Amino acid sequence: MNRLNKPVVTSETIKAMEDMSFFTHSLIFDDLLIVAQRETNCFVLWTYDGLIIIDAIWPAKEAFNAIIAAIEDVGWNPDTIKKLVLTHGHVDHTGCGKWFVEQYHADTYLSKVDDTFWEEHPTKPDRSETWKDYNIDHYLLDGETITLGDKAIYVYSTPGHTPGCMSYIFPVNENGEKHMAALWGGTTPPWTKAEVIQYLKSLNYFMDAAKTKNVDVALSNHTSVDNGLERIAYSRKRYSYMPNIYIIGSDGFYHYCQVFQSMSNDILKKIQNFR
Ligand SMILES: [Zn+2]
Repeated sequence: MNRLNKPVVTSETIKAMEDMSFFTHSLIFDDLLIVAQRETNCFVLWTYDGLIIIDAIWPAKEAFNAIIAAIEDVGWNPDTIKKLVLTHGHVDHTGCGKWFVEQYHADTYLSKVDDTFWEEHPTKPDRSETWKDYNIDHYLLDGETITLGDKAIYVYSTPGHTPGCMSYIFPVNENGEKHMAALWGGTTPPWTKAEVIQYLKSLNYFMDAAKTKNVDVALSNHTSVDNGLERIAYSRKRYSYMPNIYIIGSDGFYHYCQVFQSMSNDILKKIQNFR
């Protein structure tokens, strides 16, 4: 396993985002499914009134098919997909969303700033298959709540990784017992001093919010940051007497966020040395 204080993000990581050769999934809470390829993952949140997809991996039909197959594998019905909520406008998160819109008429959610960013600054400008390919129905604002059935997703504006990046806090259940999960939307810090400072400011804001909401579960949309594939492998084989390793407590969540702080501080140092 990688040490979590120094996650490695390299050009290999970027290549891994496009690897559609395998997918894995696990029902990590009673009502939360994770579906991953080698580098990125999405979440499916079950509610009384249907399913919410959070992020959408990569714009490849294989990714869409894998998410649908995972939903069916855990006994849920893809026909109940109602919403697609995105963290930010990078192609490894906007992903295969267009098929959720086309086939399930999912309502789509993203910040207005990142909708424009997605359109005007495609992650891979030289490859049209990765450009913006579906519309956003609802522009998210800081402090609002996305509700469906018995669930509420609390929305936090956390610019830095992208100018309109959003992060989320929502309840999940473990054997019927409620926990609060937090998903930090933008994994890696940006590369200019002003943006890194903004990223750190957003992170502090989100850490405060997490404390207020009693967050005790850390979720990541990149498997490289939290040993995600190993955690999924563990969860798939976990017996009922074994602990749920996504539940790390409020101190654990604070330490998890310090990983992003130390990555940011490293980048700030590099920027300073460069000058
Ligand atoms: Zn990104």
